[in-house]
Amino acid sequence: MNDGPGAFGFPHKHLLGIEGLNPIEITALLDRAESYVEQNRQADKKKAVLSGRTIINLFFEDSTRTRTSFELAGKRLGGDVINMSVATSSVKKGETLIDTAMTLNAMHPDVLVVRHPDSGSVKLLSEKVNCAVINAGDGQHEHPTQALLDALTIRRRMGKIQGLRVAICGDILHSRVARSNIHLLTTMGARVRLIAPRTLIPTGIEHMGVEVFNDMREGLEDCDIVMMLRLQKERMDGNYLPSVREFFHFFGLDYAKLEGAKPNALIMHPGPMNRGVEIDSEVADDFGRSAIHEQVEMGVAVRMAALEILTANLEEHLQRNL
Ligand code: ASP
Repeated sequence: MNDGPGAFGFPHKHLLGIEGLNPIEITALLDRAESYVEQNRQADKKKAVLSGRTIINLFFEDSTRTRTSFELAGKRLGGDVINMSVATSSVKKGETLIDTAMTLNAMHPDVLVVRHPDSGSVKLLSEKVNCAVINAGDGQHEHPTQALLDALTIRRRMGKIQGLRVAICGDILHSRVARSNIHLLTTMGARVRLIAPRTLIPTGIEHMGVEVFNDMREGLEDCDIVMMLRLQKERMDGNYLPSVREFFHFFGLDYAKLEGAKPNALIMHPGPMNRGVEIDSEVADDFGRSAIHEQVEMGVAVRMAALEILTANLEEHLQRNL
């Protein structure tokens, strides 16, 4: 599915995950996104790149920033964007994921942006439709545009990704953000540490080329980036923690724990944040060190790049019947 050179050097029809992308392909997406950052800061933010194109946001799980970000991205490029809310759709009437996808496919969208609670479901859907598909988060599996926006934020702040020491902390077990970031950061040559209680570390995760720590002070030592994750209670079907208070005491990011990291270490969080659970409010709002709002800003640029590139690749893929 990736024989041609593809638009801007990115050859794929879909963006389903970071796993399997090489550094050149990741850099192609980041470079294109970079070109949109300045445009998004201007009064006139519109371009006609996606004029005549249709993008459908199909979200089977709640989302605030990701859905809004894709909507803005599509509209800023001049596309028509439709948001499908599952609460009001025929999915509630028993239609399956694939039926829904096929129905939407018959309306000839150019891109389907899909979020679904089941890992692997977005890939399955991509095999049944003609349009390009972007994974906006599938269960605990991947959230590729989040990892890309994190990478863009890091690259802009630190000037590089290669060689940086990045700590990803908290609920790794349930986090698609962690998985996509591990793939991206290790592919781009960063050194990744995971810091979490034993119960929130997936078995065998070391095979992804990361180091595992169960102590914040040890794990954060000399880190350039401290990426906190939300405690994802909605995905927990058992007792993973004695209490939230204890979790914050041992694993919540506060200034005391941050001392071990490099003095200019960047603080990140994909949102939504649980203040006082995985991150102390003061640290989260430390505008010198926290890149949390910048991550949201970069999200729009990254999604513009992804929509533009996949749409540009679509003709070629359809001609080759891929
Ligand atoms: N917004 C991210 C996601 O959809 C992170 C989170 O929900 O904690 O995975």
